[in-house]
This record gives sequence, C-alpha cells and structure tokens, in this order.
Amino acid sequence: MASYHDAVCRHCRREGVKLFLKGEKCFTKCTLERRAMPPGMHTQVRRRKVSDYGIQLRAKQRARRIYFLLENQFRNYFDRASNMPGVTGLNLLRLLETRLDNVVYRMGFASSRRDARQLVSHRHFAVNGRTVNISSYHVRVGEEIAVRGGSKDVERIKTAIEAAEHRSLPPWLNVDREQLTGKMVSQPERNDIDQTIQEQLIVEFYSR
Ligand code: SF4
Repeated sequence: MASYHDAVCRHCRREGVKLFLKGEKCFTKCTLERRAMPPGMHTQVRRRKVSDYGIQLRAKQRARRIYFLLENQFRNYFDRASNMPGVTGLNLLRLLETRLDNVVYRMGFASSRRDARQLVSHRHFAVNGRTVNISSYHVRVGEEIAVRGGSKDVERIKTAIEAAEHRSLPPWLNVDREQLTGKMVSQPERNDIDQTIQEQLIVEFYSR
C-alpha cells in the first residue's frame, strides 16, 4: 500500500496550520510553533502573489493532508463524490470522515489519523463483530466499531483513550469508553467537520 514516508511536520509547515498528524506531540512539542516557515531553503524570503489556482491548490492539499491521503486516493474520493446525488463538497467531506481510520480517531481510540491507520492495519478493530484491517473501509450508519478483545491492553490505544477524554466527540458518533466500542449514529453534518477545510475551493480545483 502506498503511504507517506517523509517527516509529517513538513505538511503542517507547508500549509501554515497545525494538522495534528502526530497525536499528543502536537499539543506538547509542536514543530510548527518553533519553526513556522514553510519547508525548504530560503522560503522565508519568498514574496509571491498567489493566483486563484494557487489558492485552490492549497485548499486541496490542506484537506488531503488532514486526512493523510495520497493524491490519487484523494482524487478518487472526489470522483466518487461528484457522481453521488447532492452537493459534491459535502459528499466529499462525508466520504473522508467515514473512513474507518478517521472514525477510529474521532472515537478516541487513536491519537491521530496516522496512528489510527496503523492500528487498523494491525487488526486491532472489528466492525459489527468482524475484524477489518482496511483503513479506507467506509463506515455506515448503524455500524459498531470495537477494539478487539486481545487489543484492549495495547498501550497506544489506552493512552489515546485517556487523552481523548479532553476532546469533544462529534454528535454523529456514540462511544462506550468502558466497553471500548462505538457506533456511527448518523451522517456527519458540515458543522461537525473541520471548519478550516474549504470544500468549494477543492471542487473548483478539480473542475478546472
Ligand atoms: Fe503538525 Fe503535530 Fe508536527 Fe505540530 S507536531 S507540526 S501539529 S504534525
């Protein structure tokens, strides 16, 4: 499976915002707070007028990096969203939010989406009682996500659950932190999704 291998903090520095790709470290030892300039030499002296294309590109790249996806994966989601009934931008965001790795992260069973992806691929989660190790699995309303029996003592999961007590749970999810289970109870609405994502610019980018 294709994946990122470079230092993930570069993505935050490139976008100029915290993308929270490293879990708890993002709250305690954030690289962006120490080195706010974009990666690469001499970038701090660049002064360029940004075109409409550049603005759309940055919006797309930021969303792609928030969900930690490669370009072809992100493009596939856009194509699916544009073929669905309804508003393409919201369709896209819902497809991204209902990926299994994102749902695991949102439920607080992982400290970041990146961490969630690894935990899913290591078979620590079940959906409706069946082990699923595909992070792109599309979670549907009514499905239950559970930490598998043998995985309840995994230190990374326990640490993430403790840290998640301070995070708010989106209204489209229910979580039982004692049983380590959660359920998707409805579709995410726009207000439940990262407000920094500008989906209209993403639609414009791919519609050029
Ligand atoms: Fe981004 Fe987290 Fe790195 Fe800060 S620590 S730059 S939020 S990945």
